[in-house]
Amino acid sequence: MKTIIEPFRIKMVEPMKMTSREERAKLIEEARYNLFFLKARDVMIDLLTDSGTSAMSSDQWSAVMRGDEAYAGSESYFRFEQAVRDIYGFEHIIPTHQGRAAEKILFSNLCKDGDVVPNNTHFDTTRANVEYTGAEARDLVIPEGRVPSEIHPFKGNMDIDALQRTIDEVGVDNIPLIMLTITNNSGGGQPVSMENIRMVSEIAHSNGIPFFLDACRFAENAYFIKLREDGYSDVSMMDIANEIFSYADGCTMSAKKDGLANMGGFLALNDAELAESCRHLLILTEGFTTYGGMAGRDLDAVATGLREVLSEDYLKYRISSTDYLGRKISENGVPIMQPPGGHAIYIDAKAMLPRIPPLQYPAQALAVELYIEAGIRAVEIGTAMFGKYDPETGEETAAPMELLRLAIPRRVYTQSQIEYVIEAILNVMERKDSIVGLKMVKQAPFLRHFTAEYEPLSD
Ligand SMILES: *Cc1c(COP(=O)(O)O)cnc(C)c1O
Repeated sequence: MKTIIEPFRIKMVEPMKMTSREERAKLIEEARYNLFFLKARDVMIDLLTDSGTSAMSSDQWSAVMRGDEAYAGSESYFRFEQAVRDIYGFEHIIPTHQGRAAEKILFSNLCKDGDVVPNNTHFDTTRANVEYTGAEARDLVIPEGRVPSEIHPFKGNMDIDALQRTIDEVGVDNIPLIMLTITNNSGGGQPVSMENIRMVSEIAHSNGIPFFLDACRFAENAYFIKLREDGYSDVSMMDIANEIFSYADGCTMSAKKDGLANMGGFLALNDAELAESCRHLLILTEGFTTYGGMAGRDLDAVATGLREVLSEDYLKYRISSTDYLGRKISENGVPIMQPPGGHAIYIDAKAMLPRIPPLQYPAQALAVELYIEAGIRAVEIGTAMFGKYDPETGEETAAPMELLRLAIPRRVYTQSQIEYVIEAILNVMERKDSIVGLKMVKQAPFLRHFTAEYEPLSD
C-alpha cells in the first residue's frame, strides 16, 4: 500500500471553531496583524510550534492517573528514570520542568567567561544559556547546512574540520563541552548521521572534552538514520537510539518534543561528581531530585511517551507527513528550505514574495495571508524576529533570511487537515502578487516579534 495512514484511532476529539474569511480578516486586524495576539480558539490549524503541543495517547492518560505525587522518592520518578535509562543509558537522571532548565543547570556548572561551546547549531535557549555564563556559543554546522536550497541527507552534521580548528585555536582548557543538536532545529529539524555523532565523540574524547547531545528530537533523528544511513535499515529504533547515546557523556532533553508530553525535560549524564553539583542547583531552582519541577503525573506521561516515540510505525507516519507537506507545496512552485526536516517546513518568503522588501516583513505578510485564507497560524522567522532596530537613529537592519515556519504538532492533525494546509498555501501562492508588505507601528526593545503591532501598506 502506498498510502501511509495515521497509526492511531481517535477516541476523544477537541472541536474547533470554524471561522469565515471575513471573520478572520477582522480578527487579524484586531490582533494588529501579529499572530501571537490571536486567541487560540480563533485558529483552526495551529502550526506555531511542535513544542508541548503533542496529543497524548490513551496509555499516557492512563499513566497520568497512576501519578504518584509524593514529594520524595515517588514511584512516578522511578518509572521515569527506568524509561530514560533504557533508551539513553546514562547513569544519573535529573528531571527538570523543561529543556532550558536542564541547559541552565548544566552550563552553570561547566561554563565560564571566555569559554567556547561548539555545537552544530545552538537552539535559541541553548545559545542564551551558554552566553549567560559569559561563554561563546559557536555554530559549526557543515557548509551545506547554511544554504536553504542545498539538498543533503544529513544537513545537521557538524563540520569536523571546523571543530578541529576551533579546538586548536581556543585550546582544550577553554572548551568545557562539545554539543550536537539532534535533530538540528534550524532548517526544520535536519538530522545528524551516526557517523558524524561518532566522529564528534572521538574528537571530544581524544581531547578529554565532555560530549553532550541536545536530544529533543532524538527519535526523529534515529528514524532518519534508519532511512538514509548505510547499515541501519534493519536495526531497531531502540538499538539506533542506544547507539547514538553510547557515544555521549550526557544529554539535555525537552520532553515537550519527542517525550510526546506537554511539559517536562531532563538532564542525564555519567559523571557522578558533575551530577552531584547539578543536583544542588536543581534543588535550588527546580525542586527535589526525584521530581525537579515536574508533577508525578507528568513524569509518568513522559515515561510512557518516551517508549511510544520509538515506535517505527509512528515515526514513519510522522516523518512522511512532514515530508508530504513540504514536497507537495514545493512541487507546485513554493520555495522551501530543502530537504524537508522532521518537525517543520520553512517557506522562503524572500523568494516567494520578491516584491516585498525585507523591511516590510514579507514572511509576516505571508503569515497574515495564510491566516486570512484558512485560519492557519505559522510563525515568521525573519526580520521581525531577528532584525535590528536602533531607537536612537530609527535605523533598521534586515535579517539574513525571511522564513515562514510551519511546525507540525505530533499526532494532532489528520492527513485531510494537512491537505487543507497545502491547498491554502497554494491558493495564497496563486495571488502572491497582490500581497502587500507591513509597517511595524509599535515595538518593544527586546524580542519585539512577540508584541509588535503592524499596519498593512497600501499597494
Ligand atoms: C525546545 C528546545 C530546547 C528547549 O527546550 P524547552 O523545553 O522549550 O525549554 C532546546 N533545544 C532544542 C533543540 C529545542 O528544540
